[in-house]
Amino acid sequence: QGKRLGRGKANYFSEALGRAAHERMRILSSLRAAFSAEQLSLVFQPQIELASGRVIGAEALLRWEIEPGRWVPPDQFIPLAEQSGLIVPLGEWVLRTACRGLYRLTELGYAGFRMAINVSHAQFREPGFVSMLERVLADSRVEAARIELELTESVAMDHIDEINTKLADIRRLGVRIAIDDFGTGYSSLSVLRQLHVDRLKIDRSFVGELDGPDTKAGIAPLIIALGHQCNLTLIAEGVETEVQRQCLLAMGCQEAQGFLFARPMPIERLEDWMAAQPG
Ligand code: C2E
Ligand code: MG
Ligand code: MG
Ligand code: MG
Repeated sequence: QGKRLGRGKANYFSEALGRAAHERMRILSSLRAAFSAEQLSLVFQPQIELASGRVIGAEALLRWEIEPGRWVPPDQFIPLAEQSGLIVPLGEWVLRTACRGLYRLTELGYAGFRMAINVSHAQFREPGFVSMLERVLADSRVEAARIELELTESVAMDHIDEINTKLADIRRLGVRIAIDDFGTGYSSLSVLRQLHVDRLKIDRSFVGELDGPDTKAGIAPLIIALGHQCNLTLIAEGVETEVQRQCLLAMGCQEAQGFLFARPMPIERLEDWMAAQPG
C-alpha cells in the first residue's frame, strides 16, 4: 500500500516536472519566433542626477508583446533565453538597438547622454563577447564612454581573474561597468574590492526600505558607504517616493531611476520626454 502511494507520488512529481519543462519549451519556441519576427522591443527608463534633477541617461529594458496589450515580463523569458543560448544573438540585438537609440539622442543634441544596457552572464561569458561589443560600437558610431554595461554581482562567482581580464578589456574600449541589483547576490566585500567596475546599482528592495521608520538601519546606507569607500558612483533603482529620493540624496547617493521620475518608454516617447525637460 505504502509502496504504491510512494510510486504514485513520484509519478505525480515527474509529470508535474514534465509539464513545467514542456511549458518552458513552448515559451522558448514562441520567444524564438517572436525574435525572428522582430516582435521584441526596447523601452528606456531615464536616469537622474539626484543633486540637480538633470537627466543623465537611460537604461534599456527588453519587452516582449505576445499580442496587443499583453506583455511577458523579462524575468520570465530571459532565464529561458540564457539556458538555451538564445541570449547570445538576442543580447547582441539589444546592444545594437540600444546603441541606435543612443545615436538618435546624440543627433538630437543630448551629447553627454549615457545608455545603460543589461548583459547576462551567459552572454558575458561567451569568448567572443568583447569583439562583438567592439564591432557593435564601431557600426553604431556611438562613443564608447556613453555606454554602460549592467552585470549582476554573480559574475564574480566565476574565476575572478578571468572576469577582471574581460572587464579590463571592456573598460579599455572606454565602456563603463555597473553592478546591477547590488546587495542581492552572494559576492563578498573582498570580491567587490577586486572587481574593476565604475558604479553600484542599489537594488530596489533596499530602496523600498527607506520609507520605513528607521531608514538608517537598512541596507542602502551600508551600500552607499561601501561605494564611497571604494570610489564607486552609486545609482538607486526603483525610486518611487519623494521620501526615498530625499533619503538617498542626503546619504550621498548620486543618481537614481524609478517610477517617481519616469517609467520605461519607447524611444520616440523618450525623445519627447527629453524635449519637455527643463534646462
Ligand atoms: P533590472 O535591470 O534590475 O531592471 C530594473 C527593473 O525595475 C525593470 O523591470 C524596471 O522596469 C523596473 N522598475 C524601474 N523603476 C521601478 C520602480 O520605481 N518601481 C518598480 N516596482 N519597478 C521599477 P523589467 O523591465 O521588468 O526588467 C526586469 C529584469 O529583466 C531587469 O532587472 C533585468 O535583470 C532583466 N532585463 C531586462 N532587459 C534586459 C536585457 O535587455 N538583457 C538582459 N540580459 N536582461 C534584461
Ligand atoms: Mg539593470
Ligand atoms: Mg537592477
Ligand atoms: Mg532588478
